Amino acid sequence: MNRNLIDKLYKNTTLSGEEYTELIKNHAPEDAEYLFSLSRSVRQKYYGKDVFVRGLIEFTNYCKNDCYYCGIRKSNKNISRYRLSEEEILSCCDNGYALGFRTFVLQGGEDEYFDDDKICSIVRLIKEKYPDCAVTLSIGEKSCESYKAFFDAGADRYLLRHETATGQHYKRLHPPSMSFDNRLRCLCDLKDTGFQTGCGFMVGSPFQTAENLAEDMLFIKRLQPHMVGIGPFIAQHDTPFSQFASGTAELTLFMLGLIRLTLPTVLLPSTTALGTIHPRGRELGILSGANVIMPNLSPVDARKKYTLYDNKLFTDCEAAEGLEKLKAEMKSIGYEVVVDRGDCATVRGTGQNNK
Ligand code: SAH
Repeated sequence: MNRNLIDKLYKNTTLSGEEYTELIKNHAPEDAEYLFSLSRSVRQKYYGKDVFVRGLIEFTNYCKNDCYYCGIRKSNKNISRYRLSEEEILSCCDNGYALGFRTFVLQGGEDEYFDDDKICSIVRLIKEKYPDCAVTLSIGEKSCESYKAFFDAGADRYLLRHETATGQHYKRLHPPSMSFDNRLRCLCDLKDTGFQTGCGFMVGSPFQTAENLAEDMLFIKRLQPHMVGIGPFIAQHDTPFSQFASGTAELTLFMLGLIRLTLPTVLLPSTTALGTIHPRGRELGILSGANVIMPNLSPVDARKKYTLYDNKLFTDCEAAEGLEKLKAEMKSIGYEVVVDRGDCATVRGTGQNNK
């Protein structure tokens, strides 16, 4: 039983690297249940039973990078590439707004077609039409100047998963052209620019050890991001990692609980990847301390082509059209999907980018 360490984390909101490692390596199902009872109570304190939803718009699957795990990597010649036009993106927002979404997340590969001017123009259009909504960007590594330009155009939040906080592990997941230091530089620049900033990592990615996950916990404690996105690694058949086993729902849920106790007010999504490997993944994520769900607002045709990993869910509760079903599902476990920008509790009221 590792209750003492869980109690310590609850009390101090941090542990040493060795202690995190010990918990990640050795926890019985009863330990996990105990952890979740505490992580739910912390979540309840800051967010009640609210579940924030974000409308995810996957607007391009072109990418100049070649991450070994990712299905939209440049070298994958077997996927059909697409870009949404400005009109198509706005029409996704129109649908989303009518459904009750008050945050739009523009995510894509690192596609040079969408230069800073194009991104700023899209952000401005969305913010002009929907000033009561938050816009989140998730478009990878850019210069500090680009991040400033996006912020000045009105973007509120930025998601850039660090993927792993261990430099040596990062090297095994990415080609030599990509650098861990630059990823970290980007996260610091994003925070300095004024974005509500999100980092995150995959659980069960190839070569990952419990020590690596402990390093991720220490990293998020240092960075103090507003959001942390985590999900299980899931192999994609056209990538160099096609033969690796996927991460487990069990460990992903446990990590969600640890993150909630480490960063009590963090925005924590129960991700599509978690819903993909477990039929009740998204509900269980919420019951482990998560408070955000990101249904897909992309046109159905685009969803099928945005294949980061195999068997990605894109209908049913994962889809924006399935919002009623998602609401009912959340209600059945005692939670409520709300119509709200869903800012981080530490910046609520002041968090709006009013530029
Ligand atoms: N280009 C953007 C968006 C990347 S896609 C960026 O660099 O931030 C969003 C996230 O999907 C990635 O950060 C990665 O953590 C996750 N992802 C990619 N491939 C995956 C896979 N095979 N299994 C699980 N998650 C994956």
